[in-house]
Amino acid sequence: MKLLKHLFVVVMLLTLPTGALPAFAQPPAKLAGYKTEAVKGVDEMAKLAQEMVDSVFSFGELGMQEVETSKYLTAQLEKYGFKVQRGVAGIPTAWVATYGSGKPVIALGSDIDGIPQASQKPGVAYPDPIIAGAPGHGEGHNTGMPLNIVAAIAVKKIMERDKLPGTIMLWPGVAEEQLASKAWYVRDGVFKDVDVVLFTHVGNNLGVSWGEGGGNGMVSVEYTFEGETAHSAGAPWRGRSALDAVELMSIGWQYRREHLRLSQRSHSVITNGGDQPNVVPRNASIWFYFRETDQPHIKELWDIGDKMAQGAALMTNTTVTSRILGTAYPQHMNKTVAETMYENIKTVGLPTWSEADQALAKALQKELGNERIEGLAVKLGNLGVPNPDRENTGGGSDDIGDVSWNYPTVTLRFPSNIPGLPGHNWSSAIASATPIAHKGVVAGAKVQAMTVLDLLTRPELVTQAWDYFKNVQTKDVKYVPFLKSDTPPPTHLNENILAKYREQMKKFYYDPTKFGTYLEQLGIKYPTIRQ
Ligand SMILES: [Zn+2]
Repeated sequence: MKLLKHLFVVVMLLTLPTGALPAFAQPPAKLAGYKTEAVKGVDEMAKLAQEMVDSVFSFGELGMQEVETSKYLTAQLEKYGFKVQRGVAGIPTAWVATYGSGKPVIALGSDIDGIPQASQKPGVAYPDPIIAGAPGHGEGHNTGMPLNIVAAIAVKKIMERDKLPGTIMLWPGVAEEQLASKAWYVRDGVFKDVDVVLFTHVGNNLGVSWGEGGGNGMVSVEYTFEGETAHSAGAPWRGRSALDAVELMSIGWQYRREHLRLSQRSHSVITNGGDQPNVVPRNASIWFYFRETDQPHIKELWDIGDKMAQGAALMTNTTVTSRILGTAYPQHMNKTVAETMYENIKTVGLPTWSEADQALAKALQKELGNERIEGLAVKLGNLGVPNPDRENTGGGSDDIGDVSWNYPTVTLRFPSNIPGLPGHNWSSAIASATPIAHKGVVAGAKVQAMTVLDLLTRPELVTQAWDYFKNVQTKDVKYVPFLKSDTPPPTHLNENILAKYREQMKKFYYDPTKFGTYLEQLGIKYPTIRQ
């Protein structure tokens, strides 16, 4: 009987016209209707999306201090029937929200943290902080979770009504700017039963890619030197300066840089330079980001850093300790999931920008002295594919890389920002609470919802995604985490900055019960352009 069945299937396959899919691999009849319904559902939630985007923008919190942001987003999720677990992986501002049960488990993630000194009035095309010196959303991380939440609510309605099996899980990238949460999530099993991860990150077009991206992976390490205090004038010979060690390590690294690969990126800040000039600094710390294109080269940079720290300690008669504050693996995105998502991107297309949106974008590009005054994206980009001929000369990092080496993962880029900005800067906050951000989020949420529906109703996609993950991506290259089993998450980061600014920032939190938009609350004419 079994043999007969097999024969039947083989005959069926052989008699199908070339190019046609066998019946069991065709999208279920209801899928197209589900997608139309989800798109409509997202459109109907455009107001909710705007409120969430503007609220998170107004909190402007830095990594590990996303207290208001997490409180607000989890409250929204609970309101719409998601179950929330807080404080995951030992990180107070981290959480997981779920709806549904059983397989497949589709995890929707996005970052939520801001950038130091990026406070900026939205819709104003020149530097104009809300609070001078305060943090703000100088990358646009206020937009990604609202996108995921709207998409998840739209899909949940369909799942509930038609009793679709599967689980939607939402999770925030805490302290992405410090690359300080996702590798911990992976280590601590936050994604244990996950089948596919759909990450999303603000960009200036709708896009997705597969394979190795450009950019670098990294480790972030803080070196702390210890010496001895003494009167800096009265008895300097009795002191041993930890600051001298920090400075020697820093200058040593600058000399060594000439002899490192072109693809490396390394940078540091002095997090403790001593207390006052007349006391020889007993303690001083320097914090490095070591970035390279693959795990062995990242490790090599880190080893050089360790040696240089020992050298600096020897020269100054001090001692040195170090700790990891963050890590991000070089990224590799899943082919099946990216191709599936790209079909949905083509269906959704770019938002329709108003004259005001384009005027803001062009004014900012002019303000920054850009060569190209291109305005906002009006043509969809292509599906990003690996380019073996292109040399990876390095760049930024995202700890979604760690997730991508453990689960089939893609990053959806959505057009909530303006092209041609330097990044990590006040200029990236300008569009982030304007119609540009709102429309970009709505477009992205549609793509995200449609892709979740694909994965829920076409189990063969999940199988293919894992096939690529196991038999192509990780066939020869294995994940070697930088974290040890007991490396603690750096939950202390940015405490001081928020302690300094939070009270002032509270006065500018968005109140959607009183104002239609955050622009309205701040009394900003859209767009405000230098005359
Ligand atoms: Zn980011």
